[in-house]
Amino acid sequence: MVIAIANQKGGVGKTTTAINLAAAFARRGQRVLLLDLDPQANSSISFLDPDTIEFSAYDLLMDGLGGSNQIIYKTSLSGLDIIPARISLAKIEAKLVGDFDAPFRLKDRLEPLRALYDMLIIDTPPTLGLITVNALVAATHVLIPIQSSFFALEGTDDLLETIEKVKTRPNPNLQVLGVLVTLHDKRTTLAREVYERIRAVFGPKMFETVITKSVRLEESPAYKESIFTFAPNSSGASEYAKLCEEVISRV
Ligand code: ATP
Ligand code: MG
Repeated sequence: MVIAIANQKGGVGKTTTAINLAAAFARRGQRVLLLDLDPQANSSISFLDPDTIEFSAYDLLMDGLGGSNQIIYKTSLSGLDIIPARISLAKIEAKLVGDFDAPFRLKDRLEPLRALYDMLIIDTPPTLGLITVNALVAATHVLIPIQSSFFALEGTDDLLETIEKVKTRPNPNLQVLGVLVTLHDKRTTLAREVYERIRAVFGPKMFETVITKSVRLEESPAYKESIFTFAPNSSGASEYAKLCEEVISRV
């Protein structure tokens, strides 16, 4: 299964969800590949030293695997590999413009890797451009993190429209895996109201699991660790573990 984590709104917890969900699956003994498609490279830097990154998702999209595994890096977590991003990925849209297979690049390039992993998780940038479209075309499922804030639902129409467009032609099998409320602050009335508003829109698509605000989740990437080793007893660790169980029960 290939899960794209997408929302063109910035800072809603895409990367935090990608890295910790990937780690949660690896901890359960699955072979997981985390693919960083954001030129900001936040997922990559959460596990790798940027100086060690030579090849990246840019090379995958341009040249494919080229018969080598140089694009795939091991992380310190057993079972979790990563194809990192570099800032060069920002150039890819210009490079692919006008290419007849532009939206299908990623799907085609990932094909040989599908059998090697149980789970592919794709972190996407905060745009609805060609990179995110490539992720949605390559994915079997899309997980939408929504930040619990006053502006939570702004822009979700555009995202849902893009998902529908992708479903009508390039990827009819794409499914919305679920909507995840992130950065939730249980103490405020506003947060509770926002949660109810999101639920009114997405109903059963909402994950029961809610990711609350936790400093631990913010800190762990700086130590190149997932939440499970960095703060195993934190709320973030139990919430992302619960999300992993919910994902499994949905598919
Ligand atoms: P971008 O659109 O820029 O890629 P994003 O959607 O990937 O952003 P993140 O990078 O995951 O969002 O999160 C934005 C910021 O909020 C980061 O500093 C991250 O550490 C922090 N953050 C994410 N989730 C939580 C949480 N549950 N509690 C506290 N901080 C969080
Ligand atoms: Mg991100």
